[in-house]
Amino acid sequence: MIKINEIFYDIEGEGKNSGFLTLFIRVSGCNLRCKWCDTKYAYYKGKYRTFKYLINKIKNSPFKHINITGGEPLLYKKEIKKLIKLIKNKYITIETNGSIPIRDIKVNNISMDLKLPSSNEHKKMLFENLKYLKEKDQVKLVIGSKNDMIYAKKILKKYKTKAPIIVQPVYKKFSIEKIKKFILKNKLEWKLSIQLHKLKNY
Ligand code: SF4
Repeated sequence: MIKINEIFYDIEGEGKNSGFLTLFIRVSGCNLRCKWCDTKYAYYKGKYRTFKYLINKIKNSPFKHINITGGEPLLYKKEIKKLIKLIKNKYITIETNGSIPIRDIKVNNISMDLKLPSSNEHKKMLFENLKYLKEKDQVKLVIGSKNDMIYAKKILKKYKTKAPIIVQPVYKKFSIEKIKKFILKNKLEWKLSIQLHKLKNY
């Protein structure tokens, strides 16, 4: 059983698969408390669901993309690994906050956050995770200040990764233009993006 906060369809709003209609499975509970967290409602609320229940939901989804998110799904690592093995013929993304080892997670796309100083949780990151990520995975940076970019540049120079670096501003709190200028000035191979699912009235 896994404690699930919500299961819903939406467009993938972040990262390299943004734009695909996706079935999201949001696990309840998180070990971090990021300052700008937009899923605080998932810290405690949820219902325990069986593997059978979850697999049925996944099987009945007309879409290929499944996103297991949170909260922090790897708090239930043993159960999540079992669930992944039971899922057939889908493209699985796991979103994880970067504070839990990912080496033994085998999915199509590990989408790992690298928390930055403006989150107040950057000291909880396991930097060695970066070396286990592959090109098929992604590192997500949510930028809330210039200091965040300077810090991220320093960390990513020290801890190399094969995964693409995807950067986005904290929603309505930081300027995409400032990130662009920083990328240009520092000649960084970062992919700039926005949270597509927040543009409901575009
Ligand atoms: S890791 Fe994600 S869910 Fe947990 S506090 Fe940070 S933003 Fe919220």
